[in-house]
Amino acid sequence: MKCFAALCLLYFCASAASALDREAFTVTKYDLEIRLEPEQQRLGARGKISLRNDSTQPQRVVALQLSSSLNWRSIRVAGEPVQYVSQPYSSDIDHTGALSEAVVTLPSAIKPKDSVELQIGYEGVITADATRLTRIGVPEAIAKHTSWDQISPLFTAVRGAGYVAWYPITTESADFSEGNSLFEVTDRWKARAAKSEFKLILKVESNRSEEVLHLLCGTEAPELTSAAVAEPPGNASARAECEWKPLGAVTPMFAVASYVDLSKAPLKLFSLPGHEQGAGKYANALEPATAFVTGWFGPAKGSVTIADFADPHAAPFESGTMLLASMAGEDSKLAGINLVHELVHASLPSAKPWVYEGLAHFAEAMYRQEQGGRQAALDLLGLHRAAFLDAEKEYTSAPSESKGQPLISTFDEAYYRSKAAYVWWMLRDLVGAEALKTVIAKYRAADDIEPKYVENLMTNGSKRDLAWFFDDWVYHDRGLPDFKVQSAHPWTTEKGVHFVTVTLENAGRAGAEVPLTVSYDGGEISTRLEVRANSTTTTRIEVPGTPTRILINDGSVPESDLSNNVFTFAAP
Ligand SMILES: [Zn+2]
Repeated sequence: MKCFAALCLLYFCASAASALDREAFTVTKYDLEIRLEPEQQRLGARGKISLRNDSTQPQRVVALQLSSSLNWRSIRVAGEPVQYVSQPYSSDIDHTGALSEAVVTLPSAIKPKDSVELQIGYEGVITADATRLTRIGVPEAIAKHTSWDQISPLFTAVRGAGYVAWYPITTESADFSEGNSLFEVTDRWKARAAKSEFKLILKVESNRSEEVLHLLCGTEAPELTSAAVAEPPGNASARAECEWKPLGAVTPMFAVASYVDLSKAPLKLFSLPGHEQGAGKYANALEPATAFVTGWFGPAKGSVTIADFADPHAAPFESGTMLLASMAGEDSKLAGINLVHELVHASLPSAKPWVYEGLAHFAEAMYRQEQGGRQAALDLLGLHRAAFLDAEKEYTSAPSESKGQPLISTFDEAYYRSKAAYVWWMLRDLVGAEALKTVIAKYRAADDIEPKYVENLMTNGSKRDLAWFFDDWVYHDRGLPDFKVQSAHPWTTEKGVHFVTVTLENAGRAGAEVPLTVSYDGGEISTRLEVRANSTTTTRIEVPGTPTRILINDGSVPESDLSNNVFTFAAP
């Protein structure tokens, strides 16, 4: 009988699993205590999570997922163990390419919008694993610098969902080899968890009692979170409390190493022996970077953390106001830019990714402009263009009902980082630096709830109607503009003054104000022209000589096609 019951249970779970809506539940709250044992590469966790049924049906079965190298130890509801079946679930959302999934049968069905709290325990190891990259053909030697997450005696650094599922997640399978599948699943997860709260107590125990260990987990942006970093470093054991509230687009991450502490408020700077030169670049960049960021975004409201990698080729990663980046030799040439980025986060907390990250990347470009001129800044922005160009080309010609990735709601990094950097740059060009500074000074994360909050600030600060711009660039994804000179007629007055009448055409579905430079014998003259979506604008420009050439767009407006931006006048 017992055996039969077990069989029934198995059958029930198996059939439930096949019809399982894996994204029905959202984890709205994490309250976890995690103990790390670096020598064993081991992690043990216990705590509670809250799950909300975001589907339209009552749900009794929930699939909780962890990295495949971790194992479920206990799952309880109201102190009572609940039935669950643990099974492997293939998904590239984890670095191992698979998840340990617990298919849990709850004591009773949860109605839509209702929540349930689970007490959970799990443990296992997190070792370096580049499976999901190597199996699609990335050479191991390269993959290991990207897939660097691991717990190890010398250096520990582990990123969360999208890299290592070191806390429970609820997702459909993601496949790296299938186009955008991985990014779609990860972006969907980030969007669902954006308002979730995550509280973590992290403890580390090490046998090597001679060392001082630093435990970093963090982000510190008071209006949003009250996270702690590296407190206190102690012999052989350390403890840190972190809080991400709300998660926003941030991926929780922790790192443990025996660092050299070079901190100087508001910068917590941790380097590894042998990387003194690179660490020095960060220390030297602190003063000018702070002055610049304070001038634009106000004083830092919390600290920022920049910590070194043991592997000098490891790809940098940012989690809130914490950046992991190698400080070995050449890698620190971006020290000033990196610092500016993190300091902006410390000055301007926001749960809106396009504001939080967009402004930080925009500030990098402005800092570059201050140091090397506008062209250097545009070159930096240009590096961002490739990130969203291909995806945007689709929407440039797509039917108007396709949704794309509106900036205001996107959780796709290419958009909320790269496209947003351009949007803030264009806004500065539209309203001027002083007006934008006023807007930034008035921005409050807690008030950024209404969709038009930023537009209203901008309209009040600049006295300019920007509804069309926000419509095309922020509230909708309308692809990119595509400018060309439709016609250009040079003419000369009786008094010998040269003019050129230019009609610019924008064949894209997003309007913009674009710079225009007319070259003439002896120099060039620039102006700006607003050309709305699918329309033309005509203007008359006085030129000090005979015009020879017109160049549209200096690179400050991201455009789908840059090959049709030069107009050459026929020789007289
Ligand atoms: Zn950032």
